[in-house]
Amino acid sequence: MTVLRKNLIDGEWLGEAGSRNINPSNTNDIVGEYASAGPEQAKQAIAAAKAAFPAWSRSGPLARHAVLKKTSDEIMARKDEIGRSLAREEGKTLAEGVGETIRAAQIFDFFAGETLRLSGEMVPSVRPGVGVEMTREGVGVVGIITPWNFPIAIPAWKVAPALAYGNTIVFKPAELVPESAWTIVDILHRAGLPKGVLNLVMGKGSVVGQAMLDDPDVNAISFTGSVGTGKRVAAASVEHMRKFQLEMGGKNPLVVLDDADLAVAVDCAVNGAYFSTGQRCTASSRLIVADGIHDRFVDAIKERLDKLVIGDALDAKTQIGPVVDQTQLKQDEDYIAIGRQEGAELAFGGDRLERGAPGFYLQPALFVGSTNAMRISREEIFGPVANVIRVKDYDEALAVANDTPFGLTSGICTTSLKHATHFKRNSEAGMVMVNLPTAGVDFHVPFGGRKGSSYGPREQGRYAMEFYTTVKTAYTFAG
Ligand code: NAD
Repeated sequence: MTVLRKNLIDGEWLGEAGSRNINPSNTNDIVGEYASAGPEQAKQAIAAAKAAFPAWSRSGPLARHAVLKKTSDEIMARKDEIGRSLAREEGKTLAEGVGETIRAAQIFDFFAGETLRLSGEMVPSVRPGVGVEMTREGVGVVGIITPWNFPIAIPAWKVAPALAYGNTIVFKPAELVPESAWTIVDILHRAGLPKGVLNLVMGKGSVVGQAMLDDPDVNAISFTGSVGTGKRVAAASVEHMRKFQLEMGGKNPLVVLDDADLAVAVDCAVNGAYFSTGQRCTASSRLIVADGIHDRFVDAIKERLDKLVIGDALDAKTQIGPVVDQTQLKQDEDYIAIGRQEGAELAFGGDRLERGAPGFYLQPALFVGSTNAMRISREEIFGPVANVIRVKDYDEALAVANDTPFGLTSGICTTSLKHATHFKRNSEAGMVMVNLPTAGVDFHVPFGGRKGSSYGPREQGRYAMEFYTTVKTAYTFAG
């Protein structure tokens, strides 16, 4: 029997079946049925969050700590089951699904700790006898809008700090991955959140998401997704004079210099470009390779790609799962055709693959002979497609790496301390990796980018406080 997951509004599970969640590894497999909220439900959820804010924002740290810690513990205890369900609905491998679930548990644990570490400042005023206190308070009702590619980690890294700092939430997950979102909301609800503090409104972005953008009672919006939707969030937020934070696309460069350790460089490139089926905002989609190592690097990558096991996400042997859905698969194939038309040489892959069950399987694709001016170098593809750009030396590599409208992550593979140090300082990206894949970050430090990739304060770690709190300066004259 197919399960029906409902929306959580003001502490009640509500709604009728509205959409189906399909397993991309086997489209005959229906993961579940999900309620689909409309504008009215969004309004109810926002009203409930608004009503719940005064009490929650003044609750003591222990109350918030208890809910977040309990949530972390339950996610960790159920990591295999939740990770498997995540892999089933999104198509990333079992190892990646479980790894992402563990990360969500770690994030809740981190922010549970943060509830007990909130501090302020006290300074003397310029007026004798007056004291000045600077404290942080929750912002109010926070709208959280998330994409499909990290179904549990991204909701966790927004929901956990929002709750830790005393905000109430209306959460709209991506249509393709409602099960993971529903699961963490269910766990938080049972962990003892008061009604209205966390509301779940699953449904279409253009309907329920847009209703959130248009409502003046949403005081802040944290959004992760595409640049196009991000711009809508920004425009609507400016209209309502609300705080907003955007995490969007990437076209992340991995530079490989002649002095790189070839095995390290190949590991970084294969992991960064193709794992999670290339569907990571931090994926290394541009491989910028110096002349002296270029041919050896390309041969070694092709050899590795040839050995990768592509298949059902739930098969433990699989290293690369399917593409998330038909629309994304078409986008990947369209860009492979565009790359060929532009004159790049498809050196490996790019074909659809048949597996036992009907699914969206694509052989990882590698272009060589590409330039940084081509569309495949400038536009985010968001699939298992990468292109090699040949450069003569470090200076050209850095210039090409920075010549992009995006600025999320970047990486360099080199054994030169001088070049590594210069690259860390001069790369125009929010996160820079040396001899590591551009994808794969820690949960306790800031995450975010520059240029067209991000807008607003950083997410994660202590830096998350900047977005989820507002500063109050209070003056006291004791007489
Ligand atoms: P998307 O923009 O299509 O959707 C993101 C979310 O916005 C979904 O929940 C969707 O329903 C909602 N939405 C759509 N239209 C809306 C509207 N009019 N009003 C309000 N909400 C609306 O993005 P996606 O396809 O789900 O995700 C892929 C994108 O996310 C890629 O560009 C990827 O790079 C980006 N991403 C960025 C990061 C990062 O941290 N920088 C992380 C993961 C993914």
